[in-house]
Amino acid sequence: MSKTLFDPAPSPTVPVAGTQDSINVHRVFCVGRNYEAHAKEMGQAVDREKPFYFTKSRDAIVLSGGTIPYPCGTENYHYEMELVVVIGAPAFRVSVQDAMSKVFGYACGLDMTRRDIQLAERAKQLPWDLGKDVENSAVISAIVPAAQFGAPAKQRIEMRQNGVTKQDGDLSLLIWSVPEIISHLSGFYHLRPGDLIYTGTPAGVGPVQPGDVLEGSVAGAGDLKITIGARE
Ligand code: MN
Repeated sequence: MSKTLFDPAPSPTVPVAGTQDSINVHRVFCVGRNYEAHAKEMGQAVDREKPFYFTKSRDAIVLSGGTIPYPCGTENYHYEMELVVVIGAPAFRVSVQDAMSKVFGYACGLDMTRRDIQLAERAKQLPWDLGKDVENSAVISAIVPAAQFGAPAKQRIEMRQNGVTKQDGDLSLLIWSVPEIISHLSGFYHLRPGDLIYTGTPAGVGPVQPGDVLEGSVAGAGDLKITIGARE
């Protein structure tokens, strides 16, 4: 009799705020350069023709509240505070008008980045995997159901490092809106429940050090707190 070798990879789950429920995470998509001031601080022009993406392994998911190691392979590990969209229904080639019906809820998250590696990869026109698909780099808060959050509009997004505000913006600054992102991305993927979309970061990204405490929020979509641990 044949058998399947190896245990299945653990499937990360994320709690739904105010309930006993949680969701299984499927894929982790991230939008690049989705706030103009952040694109500028990265020395890049904004492409208003179409959004672009990178992905993280779902193993990168870490819940708010704990400690993540300062990863190996970088001397310039950065925070990026983001609104996270949680897909709750299959979505393939959906219109902008229909896109919001596919949203289960929202969370806030950190897209932690090996900036030195990402910039070196970018300069050589190489993929960003080592810079972006970092273990423990997709921090996420509990999920707030869409009906409770309402529509993304002008909600504040902010992040503090050791109590000092470093990022402070609002969702009206998104270059590509949530329905535009879902519609566009669904032209390339059969989105399914449990897919997460990190929607990009406002200006003010910067490096962390072991011992730092990062606290952030998106108004109405919860808040998060993570401590940077020792170097691996
Ligand atoms: Mn990002």
